[in-house]
Amino acid sequence: MKVLVVGSGGREHAIVTALAKSSRVDKIFCAPGNAGIAALAECVAIQAMDFKGLVDFAKKESIDFTIIGMDDPLVAGVVDEFEKEGLKVFGPRKNAAILEGSKAFSKDLMKKYNIPTAEYANFDNKDDALKYLETAKMPIVLKASGLALGKGVLICNTLEEAQEGVKVLMEDKKFGDAGNTIVIEEFMTGREVSVLSFVDGKTIKIMSSAQDHKRAKDGDKGLNTGGMGNFSPSPFYTDEVDEFCKKHIYQATVDAMAKEGRPFKGVIFFGLMLTEDGPKVLEYNARFGDPEAQVVLPRMKNDIIDVMEACVEGKLDEIDLQFEDNAAVCVVLASDGYPVAYEKGFEITGLEKFDGKDDYYCFHAGTKFDESGKIVTNGGRVLGVTATGSDLKDARAKAYQATEWVDFANKYMRHDIGKAIDEA
Ligand code: ATP
Repeated sequence: MKVLVVGSGGREHAIVTALAKSSRVDKIFCAPGNAGIAALAECVAIQAMDFKGLVDFAKKESIDFTIIGMDDPLVAGVVDEFEKEGLKVFGPRKNAAILEGSKAFSKDLMKKYNIPTAEYANFDNKDDALKYLETAKMPIVLKASGLALGKGVLICNTLEEAQEGVKVLMEDKKFGDAGNTIVIEEFMTGREVSVLSFVDGKTIKIMSSAQDHKRAKDGDKGLNTGGMGNFSPSPFYTDEVDEFCKKHIYQATVDAMAKEGRPFKGVIFFGLMLTEDGPKVLEYNARFGDPEAQVVLPRMKNDIIDVMEACVEGKLDEIDLQFEDNAAVCVVLASDGYPVAYEKGFEITGLEKFDGKDDYYCFHAGTKFDESGKIVTNGGRVLGVTATGSDLKDARAKAYQATEWVDFANKYMRHDIGKAIDEA
């Protein structure tokens, strides 16, 4: 079959890599893709937000199945556009992608259906938000309700900081319309764990857990980024945590969406915090996390197309989702200066060292071909170097070893990805 993947990051490279292993897939296209994806798929120069271009291409090429990797097109309704034309597509419709697209919506949903999450209040008016802060307990968390590239969350230690935060989000509009509504939320403490799941509207199947490293610098210092690396499984995601989440969070979310007339098909990403009072939902995403996909998908035993097709057809209950009994660690190689200012266009060397090595993956995030055909840096996060191993320590040692194989000017990485493994 012919498959089209929409997106251009490490997540899409991980999806394409999984597709390339499928005996059912003959040809993969990726729009727009990147220099790494180009080794496995034909990249087509259509942007992810060009819905008409994507649908026309899928019709012209008789694409059998399309997979939407990114949040922006999902939240803006790309799935609805494909479905209108009778095309098979993996991902939630617009009315379900709101689970990620509006934090105000997702908080209200959790409250209505008793899904554990932090206490909160939503505001679409600055003065009301400022008034609420006067009696609120510090620290406190402010969140732009809409999509803000993972940067619309402000943790404020004092009332003054929180007041400034409201101004930044609602008056200065630092994240544009994403800050028209804000969520003000109780500050929680605990370890964070990410859980990805496949959903077919009614059935949910949980993938192996993962743990992210959002801050730019070692020791969880510096600014929040899209993610500097992660590992799977998380040793903190115990059987007890799993049991609690199965009882109170996962199926409850899927059932709540169905009851609201917004059946969810695709991937739900649960961002969980393991608090003293039990696991609570920090956030939902309506697609694979990036880099979570880079550590979870290499460990999945199933043919990815079988699972995704079952989601679209409402037959996920027939799938026995299985993961290898191993571990994976991903270390992101970024451009120095990310997530603020960085240079691009530097040649990347050593990529061929990954060829033919089953346990090692070099997922491309921000790369492209220059005019002479060389692969050069083209973003803040450049590569996701992933290794699988017999356990987390083995995978971590291998991943860090492999980060030495590639080089480019201004290469930057964290040196403590997976440090939490030693505390488990
Ligand atoms: P992304 O989609 O990139 O994961 P986001 O912008 O949707 O991020 P959240 O995941 O809601 O934002 O929050 C980002 C980070 O802020 C969390 O991973 C967590 O570290 C911190 N955070 C969010 N909410 C809280 C809270 N209530 N208490 C403490 N920390 C929080």
